[in-house]
Amino acid sequence: MVKLADTTTEYLVASDFDKTLSFNDSGLVLSEIMDVPDFEKKVEGLARINLVQQGAELAYLLRHDPAFRRVRREHLIEAGKRVRLKYSVELFAEALASGLPGYHFPFYVISAGPAEVVRSALEGIVPPDHVFGTEFEFDAATGEISNVLRVPAGSGKVTVLQELEARLQMSPDHTIYMGDGSSDLYVMQHVNSRDGHTIAVSESKSVGRIAKRTVLSDNALSVLVPILEDIVKWDSVQIREWFASYGLALQDWDKIRTDWITFHESHRRGSRKSWCSGNGRRAF
Ligand SMILES: [Mg+2]
Repeated sequence: MVKLADTTTEYLVASDFDKTLSFNDSGLVLSEIMDVPDFEKKVEGLARINLVQQGAELAYLLRHDPAFRRVRREHLIEAGKRVRLKYSVELFAEALASGLPGYHFPFYVISAGPAEVVRSALEGIVPPDHVFGTEFEFDAATGEISNVLRVPAGSGKVTVLQELEARLQMSPDHTIYMGDGSSDLYVMQHVNSRDGHTIAVSESKSVGRIAKRTVLSDNALSVLVPILEDIVKWDSVQIREWFASYGLALQDWDKIRTDWITFHESHRRGSRKSWCSGNGRRAF
């Protein structure tokens, strides 16, 4: 546990970017700017053959697909400006930095997306040195992407997180990771195994099975709910009051735990009973 001035407790909050802090995939935005068709098909094809770490498909395409050869640094920055962020990302970053008495949450973004795209999208919200994305080398003469230096996808996210924990002297049980997709599985398993906290922000079964909490909302502030409950230990009344202090009323806060259940049909000797299949939902 890291204490500041004996009164402030620190937790590292690390977040994915695409579809965690944004609505749409930045690779798709870039392909629209560059007029590259069938981006999603290209990504699906790469994912199917497991050529690269999950989430690193765009990095591979930018380096090796001729259709992306025209991409320059300025196109990446432009794509970042066109990415649609989820609501209240700025307020979320502010609240983590200073809005919770007794707690400080250093906030970092770890994305498989190009660093230029993510830094551009979060300009004025998250400092550039708090954003880790795929780093490219650009040819000095032509401006073309000439090399891929680092890809924080899959196990690459674990490497970045471990470096951050060491730099901030943060114990692993004081790490919170939030993400939406398959690129986050490795890092979520890593954080869980060291008693940290994991929050999924999508209905994706692969991530939902691993994350300790799942929050579905188009507002980034929603992720504060499990943080306030599990770490700050506030009850629902305190949480509603805190949101109200920012002029926000929590509407439709449904606490539903979804149990994903599938039964395979089978017949047991001596029994006429057959097993059924279905989905179960349990509210609490
Ligand atoms: Mg994502």
